[in-house]
Amino acid sequence: MAKYIAVIGGGPAGCHAAYLLHKQGYEVVLFERDPSIGGRTCSWQEQGWAIDSGAGFVTNFYSMLWPLVNELGLLAEMTNLSRSNALTNGQKTVDFTVGSVSSFLSFPFLGTRDKFRMAWQAALITARHQKLDLSRPETLASWDDRSVRDEALHLFGEEVYQYLVRPSIEPFWYFSCTDVSRAMLLGLMAKASTAKFFAFKRGMSFLCQRLVAGVKVHVNAPIDRIARDGKLFLLQGEGSGRTERRAFDGVVLATTATAAHKLTSQLDDHLVPAATRNFLSSQTYVPNVHVAFLTDDRASLPPMSSLFPCGPHRSPVAAINFNSHKQQSRPSGAEHQDIIGVFLNAQESQNCLSMQDDELSDHAWRLARELCPGLPAQSRLYQLIKRPEAIPLHSVGRYRQAVEALNAQQGPVVFAGDYLASATVDGALYTGLRAAQTLAKNLSQ
Ligand SMILES: Cc1cc2nc3c(=O)[nH]c(=O)nc-3n(C[C@H](O)[C@H](O)[C@H](O)COP(=O)(O)OP(=O)(O)OC[C@H]3O[C@@H](n4cnc5c(N)ncnc54)[C@H](O)[C@@H]3O)c2cc1C
Repeated sequence: MAKYIAVIGGGPAGCHAAYLLHKQGYEVVLFERDPSIGGRTCSWQEQGWAIDSGAGFVTNFYSMLWPLVNELGLLAEMTNLSRSNALTNGQKTVDFTVGSVSSFLSFPFLGTRDKFRMAWQAALITARHQKLDLSRPETLASWDDRSVRDEALHLFGEEVYQYLVRPSIEPFWYFSCTDVSRAMLLGLMAKASTAKFFAFKRGMSFLCQRLVAGVKVHVNAPIDRIARDGKLFLLQGEGSGRTERRAFDGVVLATTATAAHKLTSQLDDHLVPAATRNFLSSQTYVPNVHVAFLTDDRASLPPMSSLFPCGPHRSPVAAINFNSHKQQSRPSGAEHQDIIGVFLNAQESQNCLSMQDDELSDHAWRLARELCPGLPAQSRLYQLIKRPEAIPLHSVGRYRQAVEALNAQQGPVVFAGDYLASATVDGALYTGLRAAQTLAKNLSQ
C-alpha cells in the first residue's frame, strides 16, 4: 500500500527530500508557506529579469549538488561566474581574484611577511584538510573547537584576518567571524585555491523547481500544527485556512529550526527527543536585508562583479553585487541596464528590519554609495527583502551538536535544513538526503 509523506518547507532541503522520497515510490505532498518554492534560494522574476534574492552562487566543491545537476540534466542551465571581485578599505579599491597568485602578490593591503605566512599556512591547510566538506558536519566536528577569529589570528595574524579572512566570510554569511566555528574557515580554505563559482541562468530557484517537478506541491500553504492520529499525522494551517484531510505516515520538517521547534512542540518525546528539541530551540540566526536597484546606465558602473569591504572598519554594507556579470535572464532591450544588489550586514539589517520600504531603499543606496562612490546618484528600487532569519549561526560546538542531532533522527518525524549542516545550498541538500534516508528506513520497518 502507498505510504504518504508530508514535506513542510520548499527550500533546497525540503525539495531534495521530496525528490528522493518521490523517486523511491512514496506519495509525497510538499507544503510551502510562500507563493513560490525556493525558500532562501527564491529568485525575483519581475520585468523579465531573473535575480537571486538570497543564495546567488554555487561552487565546484559542493559535493551534493553536482551529481544532482547531472542527474536532472541541468548543466546547460548553469553559467560560470567571474572569480574577480573588488575589495575596498574605504579609501582604496582593488581588484581581487579568488585563487589567483598574481592577485594575491599584488594585493596592496598586506606586507610581504604577512603574505608569506598566509601562503604557507594556506598550503598546509589545502594539503591537510581536503576531506573537510562544509555540507557534511561529521567531517567538521573535530575542528569545531574555536572561532574563525581565534584561528585566523593564530595562523595568520591581525592584518590577514582583517583584510582577507573576514572579507572571505562576512560578505557571504553576514555573521561576524568572532561568532563562528573555525571548522568553516578550514573547510573553505582547503578548497579556495581551485574554487569556481556558478549560477543558474534562470535564477537559483530553478533547482528547487526541477527537484519537485514530479511532486504534488501546495504553495501559499503554511502549516502551523501537526497532530497525531493513531500512527498517522494530520496537518493544519490556520493561516491559509487549510486542513489537509489526508493523514500522513511520515513528516519531513524542512523549515528553519525556529519553525520546526514550534511545529513539533505538541508531539511526544519519543517522536522528538529532548536533545533534538534543545538543538532546535537553541539555534540562533542572523538577519539580512537585500535591496536591489535598477539602473539605466550600466556603462557608467564600476567594472566589477562584486565589491566587498575589507580592513578593521566595519562597513554596514556586507556586499554590493552587479548582476549583469552573472549572465542570468534579462529582458530584451535591457542591455544598458543593470540590477545592483546591496546586502547589509547583520547589525545594519537588524536596525533596518522595521523601516518602511521607501526609507530603507534610500538608506541602503546612501550606504552603498558611501562604500562605492562610483555608483550613480540616482537609481530605482527593483525589489527588497527583509529576512529576520537569514543565516543560521554555526557557533563553536554547533557542528558537533548537528552531527548528534542528525544521528538521533529515527522517524517518522524528521528534520532537514541548513542549520543541521552549513548555511549553503549544498548543506541544505545534504540534510534533505539524511532526512529522506532516515524516513525511508523507518517506514520500511
Ligand atoms: C542573502 C542570502 C545569501 C545566500 N547566498 C548563498 C550562496 O551564494 N550560496 C549558497 O550556497 N547559499 C547561500 N545562502 C544560503 C542558502 O540560501 C540556504 O542555506 C538554503 O536556502 C537553506 O535551505 P533550507 O531548505 O534549509 O531553508 P530555506 O531555503 O529557508 O527553505 C525553508 C522553506 O520553508 C518554508 N516554511 C517555513 N515555515 C513554514 C511553514 N510553517 N509551513 C510551510 N512552509 C514553511 C519557507 O517559506 C521556506 O521556503 C544564502 C542565504 C541568504 C539568506
